[in-house]
Amino acid sequence: MQANGCRILSLNSQKEYLITVGTYGLSDLYLKKGPLDARKSLPDILEGKVVFIADAAKDERVQYPQIALAQGISSIIGVPVLGKGETIGEIRIYTHEPRQFSEADRSFLHSVADMCAVVFERAELHQLLEQDHKTRGRRKKSSQVPPLPTTLESSSFAHPSEEDFAKLLDFYCIEWLYEPRSFPLRWQGGKIAEMFTPDFYLPELDLYVELTTLKQNLLTEKNRKLRQLRELYPEVNIRLLNKNDFLKLLAKYGYGPLGEAKVEGIDRVLYSNAKIQRRIRTLARHISRDYTGQRLVLIGILKGVVCFMADLMQHLSLPVTLDFMAISYYGGDGQVVKITRDLDSSITGQHVLMVEDIVDTGMTLNYILSHLSAHNPASLRVCTLLDKRARRLVNVPLDYVGFEVPDEFVVGYGLDYKGEYRNLPFIGILHPELIKGEGPTPT
Ligand code: 5GP
Repeated sequence: MQANGCRILSLNSQKEYLITVGTYGLSDLYLKKGPLDARKSLPDILEGKVVFIADAAKDERVQYPQIALAQGISSIIGVPVLGKGETIGEIRIYTHEPRQFSEADRSFLHSVADMCAVVFERAELHQLLEQDHKTRGRRKKSSQVPPLPTTLESSSFAHPSEEDFAKLLDFYCIEWLYEPRSFPLRWQGGKIAEMFTPDFYLPELDLYVELTTLKQNLLTEKNRKLRQLRELYPEVNIRLLNKNDFLKLLAKYGYGPLGEAKVEGIDRVLYSNAKIQRRIRTLARHISRDYTGQRLVLIGILKGVVCFMADLMQHLSLPVTLDFMAISYYGGDGQVVKITRDLDSSITGQHVLMVEDIVDTGMTLNYILSHLSAHNPASLRVCTLLDKRARRLVNVPLDYVGFEVPDEFVVGYGLDYKGEYRNLPFIGILHPELIKGEGPTPT
């Protein structure tokens, strides 16, 4: 194809970032130019479309145009790699000269993308088998230490403290990328004479992190590099972290030993706020697409749904109105539902979306849905943030689900235990000791 460079990218499991898995003809600098946000970097690829960019330096869709310019890249074509009809990666071709791509070029790239899809799927299977094998091995060696999910092999980290840092981030569900970008700091005769590659990038916080040991000579050198980096790249958010700094940073976002002092009783964090927000944006996209051209009434049951409702509605690109109901439980086992606050407005002939925080046995939702159906809405669907499927007794239809949660008692992000914990920005599992012998409480 007379291309000057090629890159094969794989989407991470959250479909948020494109990770380079193979390249040809591109410089190290170009490859370490930073993580590619899948939604910003040629978003049409996510929709399974081919993307063509005639002039990389001028096109808004190019995430790092200055670097493309410095590398002499003119035209780019991106073709999605599809697995089971969904985008799982991308092939990108780069040329120095501006050029068009013929139908024959495109069809050739589609064939290569199909082959990549097969390779990706086999690689994923291989990785899963390997992980399973290692986990079993580790469990055999020490039954007390649960295996922590690591995205990289230990040997890929330059220093053991980096591995610890990655494990801690995993524990608190904070997404990270290891050394995804190198920053040129000094040039000599047109060539890069010095570069700096921070250890981590935390996409949810848009933050680069360099870990430090406390050895003074290394610290001085790192500080010098960081000063230079900040001067050259003022838009880049970077922190030098020693262990204490790191714990303080986590606490700021409600995580870590320091942060958890104020949330006693939380066994572990299940979903960070950033992860919840990402999932909500995806749900809102699907809902907006399904109801295009229609008006929607969102109905929530007080009080557990307040956080979810507030965030979800802000991302809907539809005209919406809101209504709330309140219920109480009575009867011997607390499983008889009574509506204590009904809707303000009629829903007859309206498209209604019931928004729920959590569906557990399904009894509450089942009762509410039959109550709402009796008012003859034009349509009635359900969107729940959490689905505790393992405990379902009544088979209620769920049209949009945020996360399927394990059979544990969860709190935070609106969900309470005895009226508390609603204000936590994350969803966590309550310490089982606290609720021994008790069933779920109503919202
Ligand atoms: P159902 O069993 O009827 O599906 O759920 C009834 C209600 O129980 C939910 O709306 C919620 O208020 C409460 N519930 C069920 N599981 C949990 C949980 O894990 N955490 C909290 N905070 N509430 C729950």
